[in-house]
Amino acid sequence: MRRVKDRFSRFLDRPATVDISHYKELLKSVEWREEKVGKLSDSELTAAAAKLREADPFGEKELAELCALGREAAVRALDERPYDVQLLGAMELLAGHVVQMATGEGKTLAGALAAAGYALQGRPVHVMSVNDYLARRDAEWMGPVYELLGVSVGWVGQTSTQEERHAAYAKDVTYGSVSEIGFDVLRDRLCTDVADMVGRDPDVVLVDEADSVLIDEAKVPLVLAGSAEDTQADPEVAKIVRTLRPGAHYERDEDGRNAWLTARGAKIVEKALGGVDLYSGEHSDRLAAVNAALHAHALLERDVDYIVRDGKVHLINSSRGRIALRQRWPDGLQAAVEAKERLRPTESGEVLDSISVQGLISRYRTVCGMTGTASAVAEQLREFYELRVAVIPPNKPCVREDEADRIYDTVEHKEKAIVAEIASTHATGRPILIGTADVAESERLAKMLAEADVQCVVLNAKNDAQEAAIVAEAGAHGAVTVSTQMAGRGTDIRLGGTDTPEDHDKVASLGGLLVIGTGRYQSSRLDDQLRGRSGRQGDPGGSVMFASLADDQVVQYAPDATAGDKPDDDGRLADPTTQRFVDHAQKVSEGVQLEIHRNTWRYTRLIEHQRKVLLEYRDELLRTDLAATEMAAVASERWSELAESHDDDVLERAARQIMLFHLDQRWTEHLAFLADVRESIHLRALAKETPIDEFHRTAIPEFRKISDEIAERSAKTLKTVEITASGANLEAEGLRRPSATWTYMVHDNPFDTDAEQALQRVRAMIKKVRGGARR
Ligand code: ADP
Ligand code: MG
Repeated sequence: MRRVKDRFSRFLDRPATVDISHYKELLKSVEWREEKVGKLSDSELTAAAAKLREADPFGEKELAELCALGREAAVRALDERPYDVQLLGAMELLAGHVVQMATGEGKTLAGALAAAGYALQGRPVHVMSVNDYLARRDAEWMGPVYELLGVSVGWVGQTSTQEERHAAYAKDVTYGSVSEIGFDVLRDRLCTDVADMVGRDPDVVLVDEADSVLIDEAKVPLVLAGSAEDTQADPEVAKIVRTLRPGAHYERDEDGRNAWLTARGAKIVEKALGGVDLYSGEHSDRLAAVNAALHAHALLERDVDYIVRDGKVHLINSSRGRIALRQRWPDGLQAAVEAKERLRPTESGEVLDSISVQGLISRYRTVCGMTGTASAVAEQLREFYELRVAVIPPNKPCVREDEADRIYDTVEHKEKAIVAEIASTHATGRPILIGTADVAESERLAKMLAEADVQCVVLNAKNDAQEAAIVAEAGAHGAVTVSTQMAGRGTDIRLGGTDTPEDHDKVASLGGLLVIGTGRYQSSRLDDQLRGRSGRQGDPGGSVMFASLADDQVVQYAPDATAGDKPDDDGRLADPTTQRFVDHAQKVSEGVQLEIHRNTWRYTRLIEHQRKVLLEYRDELLRTDLAATEMAAVASERWSELAESHDDDVLERAARQIMLFHLDQRWTEHLAFLADVRESIHLRALAKETPIDEFHRTAIPEFRKISDEIAERSAKTLKTVEITASGANLEAEGLRRPSATWTYMVHDNPFDTDAEQALQRVRAMIKKVRGGARR
């Protein structure tokens, strides 16, 4: 019977989700302990939690005890008694699952109780948030709860000093954004002295907004770069390109990803550069410079793609509408934008190391996470992370009214309708939150609203410090808030706002918060995230998505879309055929995203594996006398010679410094090599080779050579290097470590071709399918 049930369970319930009924039983046992726990003094409560440390791992008894103590701690520290569903969430997190709990259900607290549970089992926990603000907020907010449970907590952010990082990572629980924790991992791995490292062995990670980190960001590499020689943009080229006009001198493709000179434009540039022939092949440097300058000039817009502040170019992450601190474009482009804005060039450099978000996460022994929207990607979480999803019911049933899409023939008609809807709803005082695709759309909408005499606040990079505070007020009477998809996430939107909570009932009687989407997002999951901002904790609320047949997504992924019926006078299309096209376009887009993820992972998996192998070796060099042993073996004569005149520990240190230097440099070279291989493979793919196989065929033997080469190069250095009391004088040998390093995420890489290629493949597939169906 059980076998039969297993076989059918796939059809009966959602696959890749877990059964939560078991833990529901355990809640009774928590309740039963409550009275006893309530009578404990604070210090007795802490002592009772400390007693849990004796059991490792937790059994059911300990789990129930933790929940009872955690609930009591929250009551005392926050004056909030965790709901049963929050305890269920905590227990599923402790079981290593991704927990789905809607927005406003109190995941921060559920996560903290779970983190405390892991910590009490002697396992350090990293709680990953989507940004620095949330990391710090949550660590400080939950601090008193942790304190009562006798668990130490800290946080890291972009501005943390080395000492602060050190201290934060030494705590039982450390909060940080994905990128900050990732960058620390990268920076640590360049240390040549154990004492300089801030992190420690990764054990448990609890990921907030898990779908966005584990799925959406998974393909994003975190990069550590260091300064080598300068590549500077020629201000002369920028000056020439600045005079060029679209249409006449250059053209852009529709999606704004590429720009190229027209014949006329090329002539002008060639003449201005003193009559060179740019395309002869002799002047490829010049041509690259012109192309970068043109890209900066034609495709990147100030205040949309980047802002200039303090004489520096700061990138804006368009989907988040926030400044991406200390992030850069690839070198040529960064320099070109600086030249365009007539700024002093900043340093350029080479990639010292890089790790994908997925690679970062896979370092942890245990991964768990929480989000409002996990079940839609349950299969992917299983495929990429072997994670399962636990769907936790809401504390109070959701009564939000989600309207059917309103679809229009053109973008103009759609936007007109959106503005009209906002204006008429706003007249009633009902608060409205509008989700847009990017900063540019937000700005356009804000302008149209102003023309319609509707005051609104726009969340974009210019006010990102106050972003959270603004979003918190989005539920206030009469508020109109325009925001990109990611902006202000993690902030609770209470009806009536935070200043006048007594307005709650007034706003509720108007229907609660109305959420409007200006277009369907790349996946229905993102649509759901937006909708989820309304209707928290059983509040009334509503949502509606607008779309048009001319929306980028529809044009791109359902290029044959046509209206089923004639539009009405306002351009509205209410027929089911049109709706199907809009749905279809989103489905295709979801497929493209998945394909990109799979493809990226195919490549990065190998690189991450090589990285891991090499770093284990590096760690041994760093922590043991392995370097000395190796040097004594490969350069035995020289070694014995040196041993006569130097102390053992000095020599040991020198060997370590030399080998670490060559290892790091060799890895940097290997990364550049792999990037080249990958680039050229796309060309070979045209020649019908399977790219990923070809990649492996080239990457694996190359990697095998590395350790011998490190030893060889080190032996060579050892021959000539001067050895002083502080070790090897590498500088004198011209072996310089990068003097400055910086980090960025490749989100913002406009040269990224993966997305484009995956798209092309899917398009071709669809064409095939369609073609086949027609025949
Ligand atoms: P989520 O991350 O799930 O969207 P948050 O953790 O931000 O939700 O919490 C939303 C709001 O609910 C916060 O203002 C928090 O103070 C409140 N809250 C959480 N748990 C409780 C509780 N058990 N009782 C009352 N309020 C709670
Ligand atoms: Mg949250």
